[in-house]
Amino acid sequence: MHQQPKFSWWEKEGLNRWADFAVVGAGITGLSAAYFLKKRAPQARVLVLEKGGRPEGATVRSAGFACFGSASELLADVKSMGESEAFDLASRRYNGLTLLREIHGDLALEYEHCGGFEVFFKEEKEKADKVLQQLEKVNQQLKERGEFKQEVFSVLQRDEAEALGFKNIHLVVKNKFEGGLHPQKLWDSLLAKCLEIGVEYRSGVEVKQVESGRLVGLDFELPCEKILVANNAFAQAWLPEEVRAARAQVWVSEVLATPFPKGTFHHQEGYNYFRGHAGRLILGGGRHIAPEEESTFSTENSEQIRQYLLEELLPRLFRNNPPKMVESWAGTMGIGGSKKPRIGLWKPGVWTAIRMGGMGIALGTLAGKMGAELMIEH
Ligand SMILES: Cc1cc2nc3c(=O)[nH]c(=O)nc-3n(C[C@H](O)[C@H](O)[C@H](O)COP(=O)(O)OP(=O)(O)OC[C@H]3O[C@@H](n4cnc5c(N)ncnc54)[C@H](O)[C@@H]3O)c2cc1C
Repeated sequence: MHQQPKFSWWEKEGLNRWADFAVVGAGITGLSAAYFLKKRAPQARVLVLEKGGRPEGATVRSAGFACFGSASELLADVKSMGESEAFDLASRRYNGLTLLREIHGDLALEYEHCGGFEVFFKEEKEKADKVLQQLEKVNQQLKERGEFKQEVFSVLQRDEAEALGFKNIHLVVKNKFEGGLHPQKLWDSLLAKCLEIGVEYRSGVEVKQVESGRLVGLDFELPCEKILVANNAFAQAWLPEEVRAARAQVWVSEVLATPFPKGTFHHQEGYNYFRGHAGRLILGGGRHIAPEEESTFSTENSEQIRQYLLEELLPRLFRNNPPKMVESWAGTMGIGGSKKPRIGLWKPGVWTAIRMGGMGIALGTLAGKMGAELMIEH
């Protein structure tokens, strides 16, 4: 394993010097928080500490779906958290996406407003019918929250659904407010925006202990007034009851003979997801078939999920031979008993913005903003 050299005097000087605000973790949430802190308090020293040489969390390993929940996922959320919380959370995700796009602009994010599509195959007719029966209610609930002037979900006509080219398709539900983006470009833009306004960023610095008034690592002790823990799943080490690791896995195909249909696609309450990118297919998910095995920080791909996605799901997406998958990766999401992120006070002077679940690309900007506001106002 690569061993990092010990800190120089100069590096330590910066890590042991008073900071007004310190943020643990440089994913979308931590960097967004730092951005809003520095905007609100331009004179303050805002420092972000990231354990990896490059960010090692979910943000740059995500699949780039700018989504806020397919109809069947929202209905599953209604069952687990109640109507009001489920739709409030969906509208929060949408607000997060809107804020993200406002800050960076679509070009910087390589954002494409292609629409999201939830797919039901013929053998899933029963599930599809249940969703159909409740679609009007879902639309109504979302509309009542004020962000959407039009119906969010609509059913594709038979010929439109057939034109997608999937095998044995029964129903496709469209969400016209979703799109896709490039996670690395998002992160690059966010870091650039932070640095531009004077946020300090230190990578390769792992925080071992979080105490009121100081952060402690192997070779430093940073005194600071206020701290935001924004390391998502990795906060499991400090708050095991609040957040735990869940692995998500993704595969990338060879260049396809014909372009994959435009859109971001969801299946099975959002557990499976796929989209075209640069002439290839990106396919991920499957965590629901092995929740215990996927409760891991491992970033290796597993044979069980590979078989499910590549041997069961993939052949259903292509009428002819499915493409060869040539690359894969995995990353760590932070999940918990509730799908709601944990944004709030942990102990005096220390707040958390963690547990972003499977939709942190949507939630992260807003979660960071909310964390920053709490720190400024208290
Ligand atoms: C494979 C995959 C696909 C996904 N696809 C999507 C998608 O398409 N759309 C979507 O909305 N969401 C998706 N997600 C979820 C989304 O990526 C996350 O919810 C989101 O990125 C979380 O951002 P974050 O900043 O809160 O945490 P992270 O991005 O995990 O960042 C936390 C950071 O903290 C650092 N850190 C950890 N511990 C310490 C420490 N002790 N000291 C210093 N630094 C530390 C980590 O190295 C990491 O960089 C996906 C996740 C995965 C894994």
